[in-house]
Amino acid sequence: MRFDLITIFPEFFAGPFDHGILRRARETGLVEVKVQDLREFTKDRHRTVDDRPFGGGEGMVLKPEPLFEAVESLLGRGIGDASKPGAMDTKTGIVLMSAAGKLFRQETARRYAQLERIVLICGRYEGVDERVAEHLATDEISIGDFVLSGGELPAMVVVDAVTRLIPGALGNEASSQNESFSVIKQEWTASGEGAGQAPPLQPKAINPRGRMERESAVTNHLLLDFPHYTRPAEYRGWGVPEVLIGGNHAEVAKWRRAAALEKTRRNRPDLA
Ligand code: SAH
Repeated sequence: MRFDLITIFPEFFAGPFDHGILRRARETGLVEVKVQDLREFTKDRHRTVDDRPFGGGEGMVLKPEPLFEAVESLLGRGIGDASKPGAMDTKTGIVLMSAAGKLFRQETARRYAQLERIVLICGRYEGVDERVAEHLATDEISIGDFVLSGGELPAMVVVDAVTRLIPGALGNEASSQNESFSVIKQEWTASGEGAGQAPPLQPKAINPRGRMERESAVTNHLLLDFPHYTRPAEYRGWGVPEVLIGGNHAEVAKWRRAAALEKTRRNRPDLA
């Protein structure tokens, strides 16, 4: 996988890709990260990348020309124009970082991990000329419902989240299949009072009431990770759940499942 980051602050990326999983993925050649200074695609003496917004208003807007030309130069092919748009390449993503974009989720990261190349465009100031979102980018992506001052941190977030999903990037392959936002098939049972309403967050296997099921349905759900504990078994008087120390793998698995469901319901009821 190759990542290209287009930015007016190339120095911003010194450091973040030099640690841990990302560093190892780069060293072993699983991923390649290239930073492209947008100003190299300006033609005037002042290396101007921005201009005032049409229609008036605050701030400056990143101009389309340097961005289109930077992407074309990186990809070695033309994007075309209104009369003749260039061909698409389904193995390459051109991702505009934008607070007004679609939300970046784990499923987005999984989709990106299938690509061969991702070009990430980092906005600044008031943002980027809309023609970049409309005619250059394949995706316009936000990393969350807040506004940052530039697309560099969001681009790093995307590179990190995608890299760890590339086979071989994690030391232990199981870890990316069994972590927060993994898709789980959940068999729901609706008994008595809950029937007809949204299914309770209670899997059949650990239904404590032991009621006879009336209805069941299998749906895909996103689950947060289960809580982790390590030594010491007691810290400042706070212990670790007994079951984790007992060594009964089946019991541990059952506890983790229930704890993950409980935590999802508590912290992210929207996922349930
Ligand atoms: N005027 C814009 C904000 C511009 S912030 C608005 O109200 O939506 C400047 C740049 O920071 C953006 O062009 C984008 O590249 C980046 N940015 C800010 N918040 C972001 C977010 N939540 N996700 C992704 N990129 C973001």
